[in-house]
Amino acid sequence: MRTYLLCLLPWAAAVTAAVLQPRQDVGNVSLQHPELFSLHWQMLEQNSTSGFETPMVDFLSGYLEEKGLTVELQPVQNPILAYNVRRQNIYAYMGTNRTCRLIMNSHTDVVPPWYPPSDNDTDIFGRGANDAKGSIAAQVIAFLELQDAGVLRDGDVCLLYDVGEERYGDGMQTFVDSLTWKPEFIMTGEPTESFQATGHKGSININVTAIGETAHSSVPQYGRNAILEIMDFLPKLLDLTSTFPLDSFHGNTTLSLSSITGGTISNQVADRAMAVVNSRVGVPAKQIWDIITSQVGDVPNIYISRIGDSSNPLAMDVIEGWRPKKIMPYGTDLGAWTVDNLKFLMGVGSIATAHSA
Ligand SMILES: [Zn+2]
Repeated sequence: MRTYLLCLLPWAAAVTAAVLQPRQDVGNVSLQHPELFSLHWQMLEQNSTSGFETPMVDFLSGYLEEKGLTVELQPVQNPILAYNVRRQNIYAYMGTNRTCRLIMNSHTDVVPPWYPPSDNDTDIFGRGANDAKGSIAAQVIAFLELQDAGVLRDGDVCLLYDVGEERYGDGMQTFVDSLTWKPEFIMTGEPTESFQATGHKGSININVTAIGETAHSSVPQYGRNAILEIMDFLPKLLDLTSTFPLDSFHGNTTLSLSSITGGTISNQVADRAMAVVNSRVGVPAKQIWDIITSQVGDVPNIYISRIGDSSNPLAMDVIEGWRPKKIMPYGTDLGAWTVDNLKFLMGVGSIATAHSA
């Protein structure tokens, strides 16, 4: 299989690079690749923000079926979303053998808000053009070209496009929980600038709640303003970054303020304020959480807690002597894979524009 893998990846890389640099010849891939760009554009036209991926799933599953693949749609349930929202992972393969040795994977959802595709002489824009519909287009076309060339056999490669990666992680977790065999390889497409990722960081989402005391806004001295208290606390939390240990492989640990809300109406002193802080960890998540709770866990009227499951840093597998390598500062669905297999991470686009283009 490694032979097939080595065969497949350069194709995927060449096609992904063609998406990234559409006006240049890359490897054996023509700069004019109408099927690739058509597929990419049509996916960008589908609004698929996390939790509401149905239009994209319907389009992509229909496309893969039209190409003659066997397509399974796996329902994904999430108790925090309305029960009647139809959400499905796409799992596609040749013939009848679904226990593939290599799974090519990325995610169908995008961060909100959705906006439609556009382009100029050098670039394609639109929500998800980079993360991760560029990677999906590259993988699908690479797969179809290898299939047409007679390189692939039933059971070599399956395609997995999961929902919810950007927000819930529920799509990949549902798929991994349902596995009854162990694929030897998984290759996930995320923005790596076509580098082979050597690893990526883990993540902690932190909820911060400040509780104050309300009063009429004409006499604020009778209350205690929760917004002012959280504004005082958050810089202390963010300043902890300088105290976090540095990992020689995964690098530093960051803290980023993601959202802040508070107060109710204009004539009332705010008695509640909330913030979400995201940490990308270069060391085990527990190590960082222990530092945070020991340093700022006992501030009066401030309550911190973790949202959902935290994840630890991961090391990826790479093919020596092939494409350049680089460590990535973010986390991916690969964190849900607990089985012992080879894990590769590579895709088009840069993390610098991943959630803005
Ligand atoms: Zn992504």
